[in-house]
Amino acid sequence: MSGGRPAIPRQIRRQVVAEAGGSCGWCGRDGAYDIHHILGFSETRRHVAEELIPLCPDCHRLEQRGRLTLEELLQRKQELARGTRGDRAPGHLKVPDGPLVFNLGSNVVEDCENILVADGQPLLSAIRGDRRLLLSMRLYDLFGTKLVARVIDNNWWVDREGDWDFNASSASLAIFNRRAGPLLTLSAIGGVIYVFGHLFCGDWIVEIGPTAIVVGRWSGGTSLVMTHSEIRRRMNGIVLGPDGLTVG
Ligand SMILES: [Zn+2]
Repeated sequence: MSGGRPAIPRQIRRQVVAEAGGSCGWCGRDGAYDIHHILGFSETRRHVAEELIPLCPDCHRLEQRGRLTLEELLQRKQELARGTRGDRAPGHLKVPDGPLVFNLGSNVVEDCENILVADGQPLLSAIRGDRRLLLSMRLYDLFGTKLVARVIDNNWWVDREGDWDFNASSASLAIFNRRAGPLLTLSAIGGVIYVFGHLFCGDWIVEIGPTAIVVGRWSGGTSLVMTHSEIRRRMNGIVLGPDGLTVG
């Protein structure tokens, strides 16, 4: 067996599976899963319960494509170990056939996967899947540093302590903080998806209103109001164009 990979000891495997409730440790789906080495078996050459998480084939693929990061898996692993688990929102936002059109404060972007990117992190992304919107997003706390909710293709996980809630119907999708109110709303009206709300990432604050986008920095260096006339203009590291809004 020299050079081979020893099997995961049964006791460790049972512990890891039980911790995730017998489901995929990321999306919570029941069914087939692999035990994934978060830090990579080739790196650690060991089976340690604290470094293992069950992943279904879909989530494993997300991880291999880099859409599920090491940081996110480690955070989830901590939640599982603490016995807390994210919520999943029911319902789907239906979208008509044809290009996906998003209205961001009177700016229109069409069929771009990453709608909002801050500091290299895609905060808001969407693709079409079977006539419904498959949304992906990272939601940070009001200081922009702690990841409090994560969505990948409509599967949601929230930090319970953060008090978040989701409403999803065929016409709209809203993300709430129970104390602060709605944070982000997506509404489908006449084939256009209107995006309203606030997003935070690192130093950046992005507020998408009905007629303008305000981009600011906590450190106070920048505060810009962007309207339709500014589309395609590049200002202070902020790009608003047909490929979405990029800051940082
Ligand atoms: Zn999964």
